[in-house]
Amino acid sequence: MTTGPALLDRLAEDRAFVAAPSATRVVFGAGTLAVLPEEVDRLGWSRVLVLCTPGQRALGERVAGLLGARCAGVHAGAVMHVPVASVASARTVLDAVAADGCVAVGGGSTTGLAKGLALETGTPYLAVPTTYSGSEMTPVWGLTRDGAKTTGRDDRVRAATVVYDPQLSTGLPVATSVTSGVNALAHAAEALYAPDASPLTDATATAGVQALLAALPRLAADPADVAGRAGALAAAWLCGSCLASTTMGLHHKLCHTLGGTFALPHAETHTALLPYALAFNLPAAPFAAGTLAAALGSDAPATALWELTGRLGAATSLGALGLSVDDVPAVVAAALANPYANPRPLTAAGLTALLTAAVAGADPAVLADELPLEVCHP
Ligand code: NAD
Repeated sequence: MTTGPALLDRLAEDRAFVAAPSATRVVFGAGTLAVLPEEVDRLGWSRVLVLCTPGQRALGERVAGLLGARCAGVHAGAVMHVPVASVASARTVLDAVAADGCVAVGGGSTTGLAKGLALETGTPYLAVPTTYSGSEMTPVWGLTRDGAKTTGRDDRVRAATVVYDPQLSTGLPVATSVTSGVNALAHAAEALYAPDASPLTDATATAGVQALLAALPRLAADPADVAGRAGALAAAWLCGSCLASTTMGLHHKLCHTLGGTFALPHAETHTALLPYALAFNLPAAPFAAGTLAAALGSDAPATALWELTGRLGAATSLGALGLSVDDVPAVVAAALANPYANPRPLTAAGLTALLTAAVAGADPAVLADELPLEVCHP
C-alpha cells in the first residue's frame, strides 16, 4: 500500500484554494540549541525573558546560561491551558526586567504563555519545543478565565523563530511522547479533510502522518533514540503547520469541550478520542481515509490507530480519563451548539454513538455497524 496515488489523484482534482504558509523561521537539528544566541541576535533582541514550566526550570536555566548577557531572567511559571493569572504574573516579570523578547522552552503550555504575553503586550517570542503539540507553528492562542478556555487566531501570536532540537525531547517520558505525538497526528488527520485544505496542506499532512507513525514505535522502544525523536519532532512541525493553515473539525471541537468543561487532560484526550472521531468521519472523507489506511497499513485505520496507541501504553477510552456515560448528553449538546465544518453531518444520534463507544473503549469499528453513513446524511 502506498500514499502516492491518493496524493497524486487529489492534486489532479479541480478545486479552488487559498494558501498562506507561515513566515516563521524554522531551525532544525540535533544540537541546534547551541545556535540560540545567534538566532536571538538575528531577531535584534538584547533583553530576553526565558519562559518554562516549574518542572523544566533546569532547562530554562541552561538556556539562560547559553544566552549569557542577552538573558534578562527566567520565569518558570507556565501552567497547562494558560490561566489568565499566569499571564498576569509573567507580565509583571516581563515589565520589571524590560524584556524585548521571550524564549519559550517547553511544550504547548509554555508556548501558550508566550502567546498570551504576545497577545497582551506585543512582545515577540522564539519557541524551543520539547513536546510534539505543534503549538509553536500556529497563530492559535488559548486563555483560561474562571475555568472556561477561550481560543482565537491572531498573527501577533506566531513565533518569530522556532528552534527544534531533538536532543531536548529524549527525556520526555514515553507515555507523554505517545500522547503528545497523537495530538500532532490529530492536527494532520483533520487537515486531510478540512474544508480549506490545499495541495500544500495535503502533502504536509500526509508527510506528517507518515513521519509520526514511523517515529512512535521507535520512541517507545528506545526513548533516547535521537533519530526517532527527530522524526517525531519533524512530524510535529509538519502537523502544527497543518493546524495553522486549515480549519479543524469534530475531533478538535470535542477535545476542546472535554478539556474545557470536563477538565480531561489535553494530549491524553486527543489520543483516546481520535480513533473514534476518525471512525465517524473517514467514511465521508475518502482522501483522509486512503492516506491514513496507507500510513497505518490497514484498511481499518481507526481500529489500527486504536490498537497502536493501546500497544504503546496510552489510555484508549475516555472512561479511563474520567468521562462517564452520564456526561455524554452534555458533550453532545456542546458539540451541536454552534455549527462548523465537518466532513460528515453531525447529529445527536451520531455523536451519542461516537462518545458512548469512546467512553467504553470499544473497538471503533462498532461505529460502522451502528452508524451506516446514510444514517447521518439528511
Ligand atoms: P505541556 O506543555 O503542558 O507539557 C506537559 C508536561 O511535560 C509539563 O509538565 C512539562 O513541564 C513537561 N515536559 C515538556 N517537555 C518535556 C521534556 N522534553 N522532558 C520532560 N518533561 C517535559 O503539554 P503539551 O501537550 O505540549 O501542551 C498542551 C497545551 O498546549 C494545552 O494547553 C493545549 O491546549 C495547548 N496546545 C495549543 C495548540 C495551539 O496551536 N494553540 C496546539 C496544541 C496544543
